[in-house]
Amino acid sequence: MLRSLHAKLVLALLGLLGLVGLAYVILTVTTTRLHIQEVTQALNRSLAADLARSQPLIKSGTVDKAALKRVFDMLMVVNPAIEVYLLDAEGNLIAYSAPPDKIKRARVSLGPVRDFLSAGAKLPIRGDDPRSGSGRKIFSAAPVSEGGRLQGYLYVVLGGETYQSVAGMLETSWIMRLGGGVAVASLALIAVLGVLLFTRLTRRLRRLTARVESFRSGDPARPLAPAAATPGRAPDEIDALALTFDAMARRIDEQVAALEEANTLRQELIANISHDLRTPLASLQGAIETLQMKDASLAPEEKRHYLALAHKHSQRLGRLITDLFDLTTLESEDRQLHTEPFSLAELVQDVAQRFRAMADEKGLSLEIDIPLNASPVDGDIGLIERVLANLTENAIKYTPSGGRIDLGVQGGAGRISVRVRDTGIGIPAEELPRVFERSYRVGKERGGGGDGGRDGAGLGLAIAKRIVELHGGVLLVESEPGTGTAFTFDLPAAQTA
Ligand code: ADP
Repeated sequence: MLRSLHAKLVLALLGLLGLVGLAYVILTVTTTRLHIQEVTQALNRSLAADLARSQPLIKSGTVDKAALKRVFDMLMVVNPAIEVYLLDAEGNLIAYSAPPDKIKRARVSLGPVRDFLSAGAKLPIRGDDPRSGSGRKIFSAAPVSEGGRLQGYLYVVLGGETYQSVAGMLETSWIMRLGGGVAVASLALIAVLGVLLFTRLTRRLRRLTARVESFRSGDPARPLAPAAATPGRAPDEIDALALTFDAMARRIDEQVAALEEANTLRQELIANISHDLRTPLASLQGAIETLQMKDASLAPEEKRHYLALAHKHSQRLGRLITDLFDLTTLESEDRQLHTEPFSLAELVQDVAQRFRAMADEKGLSLEIDIPLNASPVDGDIGLIERVLANLTENAIKYTPSGGRIDLGVQGGAGRISVRVRDTGIGIPAEELPRVFERSYRVGKERGGGGDGGRDGAGLGLAIAKRIVELHGGVLLVESEPGTGTAFTFDLPAAQTA
């Protein structure tokens, strides 16, 4: 309980108020006591002088005892708390009104007496109290002289035991009692208001804690609408904290959703890939088993057929595994490009050369259109070749015999674009956005299966797109079913120094 912020704040407030109260009491008592002493001393400032003037206390160098007794008696009547002492010029006590057994010192220091007698002295000035060994009290004093020569001082100690303690002060003064009561009441009021204020402030913090807690525990009904500040009040740090928390919660939710989606995609991909791997693997195993089991009964031609089949499917398997590995590496965050300037025109010619036989075999014409002055580009030549190969291979794969494939390069402002166009089967508009997804293949039966083992696992375009993106570009596709398809991307022209 005491560990809560509210309890700590309340305790701190009460502690501070206690200190303030104590400081107030000490200050009041001290100033009041000094003020009373100042007023008493000021009122009686000329008392000793008046007495000395009314009765010449020293006559012919000796104390006039009768005059002294008259003074003592007079003061006894006026104020019994006042004590009178006659000092010599060095401050030694010569005569006094108090009973001799009460006197504790034989000499009074004259410093305070001289201060008192000097003009403009700041009151109260306290001098030695002969009744106590170390005590000091306010006094009135006057020099006693005869024939112009200083004989000593009349030293009148004022006030007796006035207000020695706070309790005594409160007991004797109703004003002090009233002041004390008002102080205690105002401190209590501040305490109550402070506790109320802290309760109000910490209530908002408690609400926020509950919010965070419900988020942590994954409560599906947790509030995700922003914690708006109370209308009419400027938002403070707690509002800012609530808003920041809501933003953070939303971001976490988004990231969790993205992770879940990525996970689902990954699972789908693994399911698709394992399916795609299983098909050639099963065919490969089938061919090998047939060869093993029917070895004796198979004609040499049949044996060659099964061997060729096994070879074709093992190649397909290898290709799938390579694609999968490449895509994974390309998708890793820290994939570095080995960028260098190279001639895109030459690369396109090389790729065309590589695929010419395949195109001829399928009865397709493969044309290239490259401007004579095509400038070099900056890029990772190995990866760009991969893009061109994937696009060209797809074009050949999805274009029926008699069709045409064009590889074109075009210069632009700072960028050189490449286009691979075919007159093939095309891609339906609704499928276009998905062809770049991993493992996605338009109508799986098309182009797949037994066309010579060149079909992939739907990874070729995903790899091409990723490579183009790593080069800061975009792989675009335009297509019309039955008419053809064109893929375009561009690369930055090489920086010529
Ligand atoms: P695949 O290994 O199946 O070719 P890709 O990622 O290269 O995988 O291509 C994804 C799908 O996009 C293909 O299955 C095909 O349906 C479609 N596609 C790609 N290129 C073309 C093209 N030039 N003409 C028609 N369809 C294409």
